[in-house]
Amino acid sequence: MGAQLFLGLLLLLGSLQQPPDCKKCRDTGFVPCPEEARHACSGAATLRCSIAARCALCVGTHQVPCPKCKHESGPEYAAAQAANRAFLEELKPIEAPFARPLAHAKSAHFLLTYDIPALKVAGGETLHGGLHLYLERMERVFARFQSDVGAQEADFSAPTHVLLWSRKEDQQKASAVFARQSSDTEAKLMGRAPVVTIFYDKAWLHDEPELHQAVVHQVTHCLLSNVWDGIWPGNIHGGWIDEGLSHAYELAQFGSVRHYCYVEADTILDLNHGAWEPLVRAAVDDGKAPGFMGVAGKNTTDLTPEDQLFAWSYVDFVLRAHKAQFGPLARAIKAKKPLKDALAEALQISPFQFEDLWRVFVQENYSLKEKKKR
Ligand SMILES: [Zn+2]
Ligand SMILES: [Zn+2]
Ligand SMILES: [Zn+2]
Ligand SMILES: [Zn+2]
Repeated sequence: MGAQLFLGLLLLLGSLQQPPDCKKCRDTGFVPCPEEARHACSGAATLRCSIAARCALCVGTHQVPCPKCKHESGPEYAAAQAANRAFLEELKPIEAPFARPLAHAKSAHFLLTYDIPALKVAGGETLHGGLHLYLERMERVFARFQSDVGAQEADFSAPTHVLLWSRKEDQQKASAVFARQSSDTEAKLMGRAPVVTIFYDKAWLHDEPELHQAVVHQVTHCLLSNVWDGIWPGNIHGGWIDEGLSHAYELAQFGSVRHYCYVEADTILDLNHGAWEPLVRAAVDDGKAPGFMGVAGKNTTDLTPEDQLFAWSYVDFVLRAHKAQFGPLARAIKAKKPLKDALAEALQISPFQFEDLWRVFVQENYSLKEKKKR
């Protein structure tokens, strides 16, 4: 046995035998907040949580100075509490229109305002649980998006603010105040500081997975609009990439599409649910697919439900066959370059070549029969 190891063992034994001066806190100076059972936060994504921050005893630090040995809590503890108090201050303008305290949590890339008392999903049974569950899910969308477009942290100008409601009146208020439009269902504000507000209306988003799906779809719109330049591609003839990517994430995660966005009317049409691959494949086989340039020249609001199928498929093709070029292509489109130039720059191909390659991709990769849920 090496001398060092032996010495180490001796020291370890010594420390094991020596009882801490304060048994209550094991000399850490802190014990769990007596209210912890009421405000324990779940998930790793959360940086701040209003439910915990409103605790009068710990101010969201989840611990209090040990009452037995009366350690000085020190400047770090005070700073953590001050940061949580500042967070609560920042929330005041958000809560003002609702005249009641709401639940909010902040992660690296999102602020979530969450007002759904209970969801039928593991972890979402309580308001506090659902708050953290959805924040985690949103960060997962961010991670996927960041990897797909190859963006850096500094490429995002602001976190996305997501608001989820269980009451129509709150959705109406939030849409008017934060998204500057009227809406009973979903409303969003694209660009430099994106916002999306969604009413969990069971007549429309029938069960919890559909709410999840709506959040994935809309958060994707927000992130794409924010990255690099704060420019929403949906109204500069980049509707296909805007709607296509949101559909791609829905299909990849849920195996079916539930959402069509018509930005102005804010209407969601329930059409062509289920897998889209067989529909696109059949259209290509039958020579009935619309021209690429026609679909790819439209704004999001001008895409017909059928167009959206192909918008999705073009994005799917780039993401699967030329993944590293998806980010540069999206960036060129957001920089308002003509599609011909954007394709030449990112993929070194012409629009006609794109269409030919896409058609081959569809015939090689899409089956005519509906696949099982991925
Ligand atoms: Zn919490
Ligand atoms: Zn506490
Ligand atoms: Zn102690
Ligand atoms: Zn959409």
